[in-house]
Amino acid sequence: MRRKSIAIIGAQWGDEGKGKAVDLLTKLAQTRVDSKSDSDGTSGKPILVRRYQGSNNAGHTLVADGVKYALHLTPSGVLIPEAYNLIGQQVFVNPRAAMEEFKGLMEMGVAVSSNNLGIAANAHVTLDYHVDEDSKYFENENRTSTGKGVAQTARDKQARVGIRLVEFLDKDTFKEALEKKFHGNYLMKWSLDPIVESYKEEREFLAKFLVQEHEINKLHGSQFEIWEGAQGIMLDVDAGEYPWTTSSNPSFIPGKTDLRLGIFKLYTSSAGTGGRPFVGQMDGELESRVREPWYEFGTTTALPRDVGWFDAAAARYAIESAGIDYMAGTCGDKMELLAGIGEKVKLLVGYKKGSRIFNEWDASFHKRGFLRDAEPVFEEFEPWEKFSKDGELTSNAQRYADRIEELTGKEFIMYGTGPGRDEIILKENLWDLY
Ligand code: GDP
Repeated sequence: MRRKSIAIIGAQWGDEGKGKAVDLLTKLAQTRVDSKSDSDGTSGKPILVRRYQGSNNAGHTLVADGVKYALHLTPSGVLIPEAYNLIGQQVFVNPRAAMEEFKGLMEMGVAVSSNNLGIAANAHVTLDYHVDEDSKYFENENRTSTGKGVAQTARDKQARVGIRLVEFLDKDTFKEALEKKFHGNYLMKWSLDPIVESYKEEREFLAKFLVQEHEINKLHGSQFEIWEGAQGIMLDVDAGEYPWTTSSNPSFIPGKTDLRLGIFKLYTSSAGTGGRPFVGQMDGELESRVREPWYEFGTTTALPRDVGWFDAAAARYAIESAGIDYMAGTCGDKMELLAGIGEKVKLLVGYKKGSRIFNEWDASFHKRGFLRDAEPVFEEFEPWEKFSKDGELTSNAQRYADRIEELTGKEFIMYGTGPGRDEIILKENLWDLY
């Protein structure tokens, strides 16, 4: 059987519901695994689930057999014996957060060992001084940050004063790397030894998880490979709305994929817009009315998110930027509330700025704040009392979804119909699509 490879990518501003899609694909792969294959890890696991960017600034909650697991760094295949889970070289790893998360899972009875989990040797580590610096910004109301030290780790990496996991794990190299980072800083009067010492427990605990990514590529995932994205394409530091972005590249998958599934909420929401133009934002009264029932609060920060209508121009841009093949639509069930309060459903199809109307993403949108004074061009749809019935969308919801497909040029291959793990309409098994 040849290896099949699918990427799950958030296609908006994060929190689209990627967790459920990754979980579903992992389970579907599990049911297909050739029973003769080796699942104990000695000659490789048939499924490889790989986080390819982001940090513990993301994550999702998995519910399995009634138990909730909060995953921030750990890929979703950790609950499945046939899967190997890789935290790839582009992920920023905070050793303290990683140890806490892995130990927490172990305490809940999840098998977490070097048999099913690895971290790339060359992944950069986020250290206390990154987090300290970031939390100052966070307290200063810089709402584009989750306060986890990610931007600071990214900055050090690009400036070549970052520290890779394999260096961190070796006490002497760690100290040398710290000296390089702080060298020449005349304000630096403190000794670096306490920093090195403070990470003793993390070093001992994490050493067994060190792997080389290219070797994992060869050893694991002989049948199925899942690339698990974090955040979303519109937050990509290059493709996204700079400077209101994250510090990594959700839209860039560093390897071959057969299919890319873009996850879209059927409305939009965004944590910490902090001045980013949000043309499709709902009017304030409606926004505050839906925020609570739609749980629009940051998973990591608990801050209220901004809520708006589905942006078809941004969706098409995201699809074309990241090579999305199919869409998954989530949270249409939440929008049932709109029927109850007599609100039409709106769909943003363009931006009006002065006398110009933009229906496509324009180069000028990459000028920060360019769309701040733009007006939304909306189409209106009848709301739906029920999003789906007997595995099909109801007619009003279907009309809305059809129009999004028409505007984006891509098909919805699945829908979320509720928060539960099994509340999904799947039109076709994604592993059979190619
Ligand atoms: P991620 O940040 O993109 O990984 O988002 P998650 O997978 O953590 O999903 C965020 C929340 O949305 C979770 O509580 C999910 O249960 C919930 N969710 C996902 N899809 C749907 C859906 O179709 N309907 C409803 N009501 N909730 C959903």
